[in-house]
Amino acid sequence: MDNPGQRAAYGGMANDRQDVAIIGGGLNGPALALALAGAGLRVTVVDARAAEERAGAAFDGRAYALAIASVRLLGAVGVWPALAPEAQPMRKVVAMDGRPGEAPSPLSLTFDSAEMEEGAVGHMVEDRHLYAAFLQAMRDHPNITHLPASEVAEHRAEAAGAVALLADGGAVAARLIVAADGRASPSARRAGIGRTGHGYGQTALVAALSHTLPHEGVARQIFFPNGPLALLPLTGNRVSVVWSETDANAAAIARLDDGRFLEVLGGRIGGLLGDITLAGPRFSYPLSLTLAHRYVGARLALLGDAAHGVHPIAGQGLNLGLRDVAVLAEVLVAAHRRGEDIGAEGVLQRYESWRRPDATRLALGMDGVNQLFSNDLLGLRLARDAGLSVVGQIGPLRRAFMRQAAGLTQEARLLTGKAL
Ligand SMILES: Cc1cc2nc3c(=O)[nH]c(=O)nc-3n(C[C@H](O)[C@H](O)[C@H](O)COP(=O)(O)OP(=O)(O)OC[C@H]3O[C@@H](n4cnc5c(N)ncnc54)[C@H](O)[C@@H]3O)c2cc1C
Repeated sequence: MDNPGQRAAYGGMANDRQDVAIIGGGLNGPALALALAGAGLRVTVVDARAAEERAGAAFDGRAYALAIASVRLLGAVGVWPALAPEAQPMRKVVAMDGRPGEAPSPLSLTFDSAEMEEGAVGHMVEDRHLYAAFLQAMRDHPNITHLPASEVAEHRAEAAGAVALLADGGAVAARLIVAADGRASPSARRAGIGRTGHGYGQTALVAALSHTLPHEGVARQIFFPNGPLALLPLTGNRVSVVWSETDANAAAIARLDDGRFLEVLGGRIGGLLGDITLAGPRFSYPLSLTLAHRYVGARLALLGDAAHGVHPIAGQGLNLGLRDVAVLAEVLVAAHRRGEDIGAEGVLQRYESWRRPDATRLALGMDGVNQLFSNDLLGLRLARDAGLSVVGQIGPLRRAFMRQAAGLTQEARLLTGKAL
């Protein structure tokens, strides 16, 4: 432990206390740490996982469609310059109708960056690059102490502060604890915060493909009766496939060898990408909706998937978390500058009332879209196609959807690229 910040974090005494202890160093935890540290707060990030596991060169299969507002936030916290060379701009998003054994056919909805003044509709980045950029930025920041491979076993709120107790016997004292510990959030459970949700009966099969035809920056979402199949453009003429299937089908497909897997997948996507080969290992993620009943508790705020875990149908999970980051950082920094206690109930309530309605609306919206599209009932298909056609053909409506999805209607400063 040669980092003075780390010694201070373990000291646990009032005068060594951190401003914020973040439990969870996945993606949203580091983003918040950088935003707060940039405004002068002292932050410790504790993560159960060893840093090298996630920053390793082997592609883990996961990639994110970052909305314009998320890219602006990453710029404001200083990680975008390192990421930009690894990011693939998305020029267009095309919705398609699919049936196994038939070539996908375009639906009447396309979002084209040519219609927006802001350039690309979003950027695709791979988890390994995003995590590595966060890791480096945290290591470089004098106000951040990063404790990887350390598990928080317990946390307690006290009158003047809170403490996170580590499984190895250490402790981190802070004015506020932020739980960014993922969709199962042990911290929320310890705080007695309940959750609502359900499994989708769907599993996402995720892999990266190399292909012979250029993707030209087009993201495709093909709606099959069992779930959507997304082909998301990556650098180097590769795509990230997020293929949602019923749990039973996904388990059977996951058991296929690589050659047979590519044959089945090829049957779904037709000749859209030319010849396809795997560009990394294959992964499966069971899909569920999980919404925390509250986003705050005693000296505790939930962030990202700990607050809301959503269906990946529109690629919004991380974007939603980064909206939390922007708002929580803005609320805490403003309170800190006014001399308020950043762990006080009134301060935390500002975060909850700013974020929870937006996140709940979006989570339930994606839930509805998944139900509407993941079925083969003729009436629903007709209603859905008519709805898409309305949005697709009315320019102002289509552009309003695009601005909403890009996060351009969000007001938090970091989402507009401004510093706090
Ligand atoms: C198949 C799939 C595709 C997706 N595609 C997209 C997309 O295109 N765009 C998008 O925006 N989102 C996407 N998402 C969603 C996105 O992956 C998540 O929203 C995001 O990763 C959540 O980040 P997080 O930091 O909140 O949580 P996590 O990344 O889950 O991090 C939680 C961290 O907490 C740590 N932790 C847990 N318990 C403890 C403890 N007790 N002590 C210390 N540390 C602890 C864990 O080690 C972990 O590192 C996708 C999700 C899936 C499943």
